[in-house]
Amino acid sequence: MPLVEREIQVLKAIAEGASYAEIAADLILAHATVKNYAHSAIKKLGARSQAHAVHLAYQAGILRRERHGDHAGYAAHLYRGEEPCDLCKAGERAYRNSRRQQRKEAA
Ligand SMILES: [Zn+2]
Repeated sequence: MPLVEREIQVLKAIAEGASYAEIAADLILAHATVKNYAHSAIKKLGARSQAHAVHLAYQAGILRRERHGDHAGYAAHLYRGEEPCDLCKAGERAYRNSRRQQRKEAA
C-alpha cells in the first residue's frame, strides 16, 4: 500500500529530527495521531525502526534529498514553481559563466 501524504509528512519531519510533539504542533494534529502515522509508515515500508523507515523512504525515492547550489538545483526550484534560493542562484551564475567560457573557447 502506498504511503498517504500525512505519513510522508511525518516521516520527513522525523528525518529532519523533529519529535512527535513538534510534528503534532507543526501539522496541528494530536500526538497520538502523529504516532499512528509514523507507525503505519514503518509498517507499510516493512521497516524495523523509525531510522530504518527513513532510510527506506529515501532509497525508494518517497523522500528526496533536495539539491541546492548548482544548475540542477536551480532547475528544480523552477520546476517546483519557486523562486530559486541564493545558493542555487549563485550556482546557476557559475554554470552560465562556464558555459559562456566553453562557447568562447570553442569559437
Ligand atoms: Zn536551492
